[in-house]
Amino acid sequence: MYIFYLIYFGILGSVMGSGVITLIDRVKRKESLFTRSHCVSCGHILNPQYLVPILSYLLVKGRCHYCNSKIPQSIIEYEMQFSLIGVIVYMGAMICINMF
Ligand SMILES: [Zn+2]
Repeated sequence: MYIFYLIYFGILGSVMGSGVITLIDRVKRKESLFTRSHCVSCGHILNPQYLVPILSYLLVKGRCHYCNSKIPQSIIEYEMQFSLIGVIVYMGAMICINMF
């Protein structure tokens, strides 16, 4: 059960990281926060299979599926870092719960 929660919090962290990255990027570009995810180069709205953090980047090999423009590598790096943060938060919470 412990490994299930580690994976769950890792996925949760990457999803939250993806959201934070998108939010920051849209604020920088002064775009609406409520539009669907799209390629910043061609503007094509992304299908659901291209919205999964980390896996989508690997699936399209770091390039837009529609226009073949390069997706910044920093995106997958941030998603992986947030995933790790999710795992660390869970482990920290478990340590705290077991201490008291
Ligand atoms: Zn594109």
